[in-house]
Amino acid sequence: MQSDVRITDHTASAVADFLGEGGYAAPLIVSDPNTHRAAGRQLASSLSALGVAVEELVLAREEPAADAEAVGDILIGLVRTPDVVIGAGGGTVTDIARLVAHRMDRPFVSYPTAPSVDAYASPTSAMTFRGMKKTVPARAPEVVFANTEVLSAAPHDMIAAGFGDMVAKLTSTPDWELAAVVAEEGFDEDIAARSLRAAESCTAEVDLIRANEPAGVSTLLGGLIDSGDCMRDWGGSRPASGSEHLLSHFWEMRAARAGKPSALHGGKVAVGTLVIAGLFERLAGMGATELGRRVAAARMPAASTLREAAVRGFGATSADTLLQGHILATMSEERFSEMAQNAARAAERIIEIAASAPTPKRIRELMRRVDGPVHPRDIDLSLDDVRDALASGHFIRNRFGLLVFWHLFSLGGLDDLVEEVFA
Ligand SMILES: [Zn+2]
Repeated sequence: MQSDVRITDHTASAVADFLGEGGYAAPLIVSDPNTHRAAGRQLASSLSALGVAVEELVLAREEPAADAEAVGDILIGLVRTPDVVIGAGGGTVTDIARLVAHRMDRPFVSYPTAPSVDAYASPTSAMTFRGMKKTVPARAPEVVFANTEVLSAAPHDMIAAGFGDMVAKLTSTPDWELAAVVAEEGFDEDIAARSLRAAESCTAEVDLIRANEPAGVSTLLGGLIDSGDCMRDWGGSRPASGSEHLLSHFWEMRAARAGKPSALHGGKVAVGTLVIAGLFERLAGMGATELGRRVAAARMPAASTLREAAVRGFGATSADTLLQGHILATMSEERFSEMAQNAARAAERIIEIAASAPTPKRIRELMRRVDGPVHPRDIDLSLDDVRDALASGHFIRNRFGLLVFWHLFSLGGLDDLVEEVFA
């Protein structure tokens, strides 16, 4: 399925047509102070000039988070009940607005102000809820209105972040294949290939994207929307989000707990991709014989070891919540030996998959060319933050991938990896 994306420089009249055709009379535009200035204000006043009775709600916080405060801000601040919700903003505003649309049972329209994330077409919102990352059902957009002038005017770090979120598909795809081979997870070759193609369409235009050129920026938005469509078709984020995203979520949760702002999603994901590319490189270098030997020698991780790692990463209360129902914490001996057998039998294939992932050198070059983050310090993280994310990031979600694989068979050496990748 392909999202309905309308690329137009006359967004207001295109939106007015859409509203007219749908018989909508009470649209709500949600923005934040920045995206209000960049796009929301203009859209609201043009729609008013066209005779549409529009309400614009600008979130109070200068840099809102996708959390209860922002959702409450809208629900309490509304003057009337809308019949359609338009999210004019980046990933955060979109997550907030489409969740509100979903809970009010209203259609959602996306008006992205930056090609910064692949979530515009998604049917879920990534929220922070009670200090934890939570993906909740939300409304996928009926239409995405893309204005290349608005998108090219976005701050470059947001554009570089969007590129980072696309580069992540280069590791999330082999991560998914690994899950299919070892954990018998469902895998769709067509969707995986589409996801990779979307990433490659963007890497091919890295120089245009770096220059904020409209052509590059619309390719990037197209790639991000395609990636969102892959998630929609699969019915989950698996095609677009692997172990590199777990590292990013870990850093985001840590920042939220400390009450600190966190770097852009795609920036964190880019650094996560660099690390996971390093881990794939290490796996590829191990070779099938050595992998088979180490898997055969591995014992199931002890409950106490798992709990210790989770507590170190998240504190005692959150650790217990995360461990409940987590694949590693609830695994039976039987299931462990099944997966060990799968891994031993498919050792050659696993090494092939690992070798198909890009090297950290390639990811670093791509991110450097787009003038994006290539080191934890570029996104205000320390090497310890990276070590901690590798040690416990996999507890955030039940997602089998390279990180869980690594811990499942106690393959070790994660601290050295950090030194190696960021030497
Ligand atoms: Zn992402």
